[in-house]
Amino acid sequence: MTIAERLGRPEILALPPCDIAGAPVAGTVRLDANENPFPPLISGQGGVNRYPEPQPAVLRQRLADLYGVAASRLWVARGSDDAIDLLIRAFCTAGRDTVAIVEPTFSAYAQFARVQGARVVSARLTDDLRFDASAVLALAKAERPKILFLCTPNNPTGTPVSGDEVRAIAAALPDTLVVADEAYGEFSNEPSVAGDVGVIPNLVVLKTLSKAYGLAGARIGCAIADESVIDFIARVAPPYPLPTPSIQAALGALGPERMPLHADRIARLLADRSRLANALRAAPDVRGVREGGNFLFLDVDDPADLARRMAAAAVRVRFRPKATPGGVRVTVGTDAENRALLAVFGIGEPGRPARRADLVRDTKETRIALSIDLDRTEPRRIDTGIPFYDHMLDQVAAHGGFSLVLACEGDLAIDPHHSVEDIAIALGTALRQALGDKRGIGRFGFALPMDETRAEVLVDLSGRPFARFEGDFATAAVGGLPTEMVPHVFRSIADSLGAAIHVRVEGDNDHHKVEGCFKAFGRALRSGLALEGDSNALPSTKGML
Ligand code: PMP
Repeated sequence: MTIAERLGRPEILALPPCDIAGAPVAGTVRLDANENPFPPLISGQGGVNRYPEPQPAVLRQRLADLYGVAASRLWVARGSDDAIDLLIRAFCTAGRDTVAIVEPTFSAYAQFARVQGARVVSARLTDDLRFDASAVLALAKAERPKILFLCTPNNPTGTPVSGDEVRAIAAALPDTLVVADEAYGEFSNEPSVAGDVGVIPNLVVLKTLSKAYGLAGARIGCAIADESVIDFIARVAPPYPLPTPSIQAALGALGPERMPLHADRIARLLADRSRLANALRAAPDVRGVREGGNFLFLDVDDPADLARRMAAAAVRVRFRPKATPGGVRVTVGTDAENRALLAVFGIGEPGRPARRADLVRDTKETRIALSIDLDRTEPRRIDTGIPFYDHMLDQVAAHGGFSLVLACEGDLAIDPHHSVEDIAIALGTALRQALGDKRGIGRFGFALPMDETRAEVLVDLSGRPFARFEGDFATAAVGGLPTEMVPHVFRSIADSLGAAIHVRVEGDNDHHKVEGCFKAFGRALRSGLALEGDSNALPSTKGML
């Protein structure tokens, strides 16, 4: 007997699967779904006059790869909220079955259980908000729940449940579906237990694209479970649960060239989380600060007073008095949002706003994602598909003194041209965005001779594009980078950055000459981008740049 046959609702087992038209097949005349044959009257949404695939195969596989599991063990849901609801509806008979939770925790488990008419029983974290496996096991042994939800790290307290604890609990409760909700797992040091699904038949793992991947509005999450559980979920799911635009958004955001940027953003949110935590630990009205997920859990002296101050500043946070009387959950936000939060606690952050930019640029020829921070020198991770160009851009960032995460999926099989050019445009655009109002910068930069090669690059971050390249190359390409593209790169950057860039290069060796141009450009940028002392002045007598 499968786990779902043993634990699932018998009346669901008896139901035939939903009678739906199924996935469209190329080359067939589709008159089986009562769709409107005409394209929708909105731009950029081709195909939405048709029903989507009930389980979109490409996205399902992409998520399976992302989480390192077999696609047959993964159900794509409308957010993990939906996966929670589906599990409860498939496994809990109203008036008979029980759902167990560990409070304080995410409210949806008990909410959906009650909507389904299931009884809710709960264990609690310890007084100092640690996970207590023995209390949870004692509860489950006594109450024999159909489903036990373990949220790791826990919302709202940030408490982790270790992989060993999840596995031990699942092994000890063979007649309970043990659901590890890893909504915030990407922000945790605990490795995922997704790889144990199937090996431990009653283990289910929930994942979402809402948190680490920034797609809360697209509503995409998933349940990873034994195949029999997936089959059971399919029986209670609505026929076409996933909107086509959401499927497309998820596939776009999970493109391989996006992944370095996701990793960078997670690292940034974690760094900001600990910076915020340290600042708040010093606030007089804050008794305790816990870090978990992409949020903090505070214990404050006077929550009513804090609520008034938050309201006055129009900053919204979640008060969680049931977790602990002074409990407040605070999401890590953008720099400006974090500053607004700290201001409510009377903490002013020294310095000026961060000079960084994230940028995605997609065309039919290239898909580019890049992130730049003018005030950090790390990380530098560049993957253009052309190793020599990676090396050149790394020189620009290293000598320019800024961090650069850049990945591109381009049509290199045709020619490097599109990738080289589009990356240069994206880099210039990101530099311009990160520079913001340009207050305090050096504006001008120059560089001087290098070895036998003389490469001179002069830069003026004037806002006015102009490019001049003096020099030529004897060979057609260096390291797969066509030399004719070198002047073109500087022109593209000049155009998109809004800068005057003058390059002059002479020497004997083309490799040195190309490298000299990029290095000297980095050096020139370094002085142009640099903030000069505490100055907030615009380096222009015009009063604008
Ligand atoms: N699980 C937990 C622990 C959550 O905090 C949330 C959202 N706040 C969810 C699941 C649901 O996320 P979504 O439906 O957006 O995937």
